[in-house]
Amino acid sequence: MLLNADLHCHSTVSDGWLTPAEVVRRAAANGVELLALTDHDEVGGIDEAETTARECGITLVPGVEISVTFRDETIHVVGLGIDHRNVLLLEGLVQVRSGRELRAQAMSDALDAVGLHGVLEGARRFARNPALVGRAHFARHIVATGLMPDVATVFRYYLARGKPGFVPHVWARLEDAVGWIRAAGGIAVIAHPGRYRLSASDMEALFDSFAACGGEALEVVSGAHAESDVQRFASVARRRGLLASRASDFHGSSESPVDLGRCDPLPPDLVPVWSRLRAAAPAADLHP
Ligand code: AMP
Ligand code: MN
Ligand code: MN
Ligand code: MN
Repeated sequence: MLLNADLHCHSTVSDGWLTPAEVVRRAAANGVELLALTDHDEVGGIDEAETTARECGITLVPGVEISVTFRDETIHVVGLGIDHRNVLLLEGLVQVRSGRELRAQAMSDALDAVGLHGVLEGARRFARNPALVGRAHFARHIVATGLMPDVATVFRYYLARGKPGFVPHVWARLEDAVGWIRAAGGIAVIAHPGRYRLSASDMEALFDSFAACGGEALEVVSGAHAESDVQRFASVARRRGLLASRASDFHGSSESPVDLGRCDPLPPDLVPVWSRLRAAAPAADLHP
């Protein structure tokens, strides 16, 4: 039996629907043995998740998903096995979060101009963490108004790049995000690479820069990936000697295509990132 590892998901501390404790209980019920909670730019849910994981008898890997800007595209870098009390990391995350308030206001103004009024107030009602208002909260509010049938449609019409509610934003630099993760003793992972709209050469440049600043792993299996993405990024992991991660990127049962722990297994020849998470799991458990 393979280890059921799910190394990327969200709670109400960022844009998930479930509290950290609820996420862990759902993961345990789904048979997850090794779970990373990776909220956007926040580690405020880790303590609660760790406590609940202990109660449920599963292993919690402290994690985070940091928003990065690389060549005008937003890239997400997951940190796994971090010390979530590390001061450098915490200061970096404060800095990344600090732009969200103005961005949210600008998004709301832009949507107001196309006839969607009072959206920021609505989005705030969906954001349990006032420091982390994001596009998912906007989308949920717009669905709740009855204007659009689901969150994916809201992104397609209003919130994706090039749409009226999209406000360009500069997040952390790649080398800073990887640096904070490493300073906190963690492993940096490029999240859902299949989602980025980068040219082939920019994608190669991303992997070059990532490795040059100490990044070590790639999400090969992701809830955001099609089977073709898995094949493509498995090849990248082989060619570049990157560790491979497996991750649902679960936000909630109504929004996420893949539930906690229900992703496909990693291609068996890849080196799983959890083989390097020794502090987080008993050595006997660390097989693919
Ligand atoms: P933000 O950090 O505020 O830009 O929000 C990013 C989050 O929005 C992602 O982590 C997803 O939760 C959500 N998201 C982004 N694109 C889409 C999409 N096309 N469909 C549904 N949710 C999306
Ligand atoms: Mn999200
Ligand atoms: Mn992401
Ligand atoms: Mn995510």
